[in-house]
Amino acid sequence: MTQPRVDDLLRRLLVQCAPEQAVMAADIASGYHSGLVLTGAKPRNTVRHLLRTGYDGPLLCDAGRYAGNHPLRAGAGLRRAWTAEQHDLGLVALTDSGFLAPGDWPGLHRLLADARGHPPPLLVTLPLGAGWFAVPAWIDRLVATLNSARLPVAIAIVGDSFTTRYVTRGLVRLLTVTVPVMLLRSDIGALGAVCHGAHAGALATTSGLFVPALLSHHRPAVLARIVERTPELADRWPCACPECGGAVPTDLSPDGIYRHSLHAQLTLGDRTLSARHDVAAMTRTWRTRCDQALALHEKVAELMPPWPVPTSLRWWRDAHPPPVGATVPRQNTYDPRRRQRIDRRA
Ligand SMILES: [Zn+2]
Repeated sequence: MTQPRVDDLLRRLLVQCAPEQAVMAADIASGYHSGLVLTGAKPRNTVRHLLRTGYDGPLLCDAGRYAGNHPLRAGAGLRRAWTAEQHDLGLVALTDSGFLAPGDWPGLHRLLADARGHPPPLLVTLPLGAGWFAVPAWIDRLVATLNSARLPVAIAIVGDSFTTRYVTRGLVRLLTVTVPVMLLRSDIGALGAVCHGAHAGALATTSGLFVPALLSHHRPAVLARIVERTPELADRWPCACPECGGAVPTDLSPDGIYRHSLHAQLTLGDRTLSARHDVAAMTRTWRTRCDQALALHEKVAELMPPWPVPTSLRWWRDAHPPPVGATVPRQNTYDPRRRQRIDRRA
C-alpha cells in the first residue's frame, strides 16, 4: 500500500457518512474526484471491508467525539492510539479532538501541542463552535496561530453554520491561512469553501433531495409542488444522474433520494472544481452559481409565496474575495517536515 498523503485530498469534495451508508457512498464517490469520510468511534471494520472490496479512493475517519449530547472538550487532548490506528489502516489520520467552545484558546493550543507529538500524515480536527466566527479578531488570531503551528487542519463548524452571515464571512477569512484546511460535516457549503481555497470539503447532509438549480435540499413533495406551479421553469428540474435518467426526481425511494443527491452534488463539484489550481476562477464560478440559484429562488418565490429564499446563498455571493496571495495553489507545496514550533504567543 502506498503511503497516503494530505495532498491526495486536494480540491476534493468528499462524502461524509455513517458506516451503514459507507458502501453505497463509496460506490458513488468512486465515480468522481471525491472520497469518503466515515463518522463514528469504531470505523475499523468498515474501513477494512471497503478496502477488501476494492475501494481505492481517499478515506478518512472522523471520531466525532466533539458531537452528540455530551461532547468531549478540546482540553481533554488527543489519543495517540486513535492516530496510530488510522495509520495502521493505511489512512491519513483525522485527530479525535474534542469540541472547541468559542474563545477556548487553551483547548486549541492543547490540540496543536498534542498533534505535534503524533507522526504525520494527519489533519488536526478543530471542531469550532460557530461563535468563533462572530469575532473577526479571533479569526485573525486563529489564522496567525495556525500559520505558526504549520499543521494541516480539518475544521468542523458546530452550530448554525452557513445560515449566519458571520460564519461564511469568517470562514472565507480563515481560508487565507498558509496550511491546508479541510471542512468537515458540511452541506453544499463544502463546495463553496473549496472554491474559496479550502484544501477539501465533506458533504454530510443525509436528508432531503438536492435540487442542483436551486443549490438547496428540499422534500420531494415540495419539488413536486414547484414543478406543478411553475410550468415556465419546466426545463430547470429534470436530472441526468444515473438515478434519475433525465426525469424530475420527485418519485424516488429514500435510498434513491440519497444517491441522487450525492450524484447531483458531486457532478456539480467536478464541474465547479475543474480549475483546480486557480482559486480566483473557482471563486467566480461559485459566486455565479449562487447568483443564478438565488435568481431562480426569487422566481419561485414570486409564483409560490411565501417561499423562503435561502440566505446562505446570499452570504456566499457577497463574501469578500480572498486576497491576491491566496490564489497561488499553496497547498501543493505543503511539506510536513517543515513544521515549526507552535507559537504560544499567538
Ligand atoms: Zn438525479
